[in-house]
Amino acid sequence: MLLQGKKILITGVANDWSMAWAIAQRAAAAGAQIAMPYAMPALEKRVRPLAESIGAEFVQECNVQNDAQMDDLFNKIEEKWGRLDGVLHAIAFSDKNELMGRYADTTRDNFKNTMDISVYSLVDIARRASKLMTDGGSIVTLTYFGGEKSVPNYNVMGVAKSALDSSVRYLASDLGADGIRVNAISAGPIMTLASSGVGGFKAMLRLNAETTPLRRNMTLDDVSGAALYLFSNLSSGVTGEVHHVDCGYSSTGMMPNDMKDILLKNLDDK
Ligand code: NAD
Repeated sequence: MLLQGKKILITGVANDWSMAWAIAQRAAAAGAQIAMPYAMPALEKRVRPLAESIGAEFVQECNVQNDAQMDDLFNKIEEKWGRLDGVLHAIAFSDKNELMGRYADTTRDNFKNTMDISVYSLVDIARRASKLMTDGGSIVTLTYFGGEKSVPNYNVMGVAKSALDSSVRYLASDLGADGIRVNAISAGPIMTLASSGVGGFKAMLRLNAETTPLRRNMTLDDVSGAALYLFSNLSSGVTGEVHHVDCGYSSTGMMPNDMKDILLKNLDDK
């Protein structure tokens, strides 16, 4: 019961494939009380039964671009709970027509919208949540390696993840004096509603599974375990960190020999 008595806001549950849902379940099983809003009315029918199954509260619409909905969520949490101990930020969006082809073709409108939803929302949520973290707290976001190196088709979302990683460091510096830690989990690719919008994602999953040091893809258990650690006091000295939960992919500079042999043979056969 690592999170016994902790009050944690989990954003970003869209359905039972969402990484946020795996993390919400794990946190609830470890003793946390969960707040679980959803982004838009169409998601309520999926999210409400999930929330009920773990006794989550504050199951209400909260689009991060809607200030009135954000005010309402945080006011209600303050009134009913009086404080927060943790927040999961698991929110990203971009026009899927621009998650294929060239980054150079990104439009100004989609650039701004992607940054607003996927990056500024962390800043906004951290500022609001920190006021309720009267006894310290832990803020965790989900990022991806495409913010550190270019990844085909990830495009503007990669640039948003770079800004998200940087925001983690600046927020950690701002909020650390109040005992609030801010970290990112850099998750390996996994099939979800959001990732299915990235061009060529299935191929990326197949290739990734063959090339990581662990020779498999990351699982929901892997990512929820890391979140449990970051929300718990086990990680009390950790802040401003981008923690890779990607079966080691980001630690490598070249594909493994067996994959290299297959590629070279194909090239030779051409
Ligand atoms: P998901 O589709 O289940 O979650 C994305 C969430 O963002 C959804 O719940 C959606 O409702 C929410 N969202 C989008 N626009 C919003 C808005 N305006 N207001 C409030 N919420 C909004 O997919 P996921 O893969 O679990 O994504 C969660 C996070 O993990 C994202 O930040 C994503 O970039 C990141 N991530 C995903 C992968 C992957 O391969 N799936 C890898 C690394 C990081």
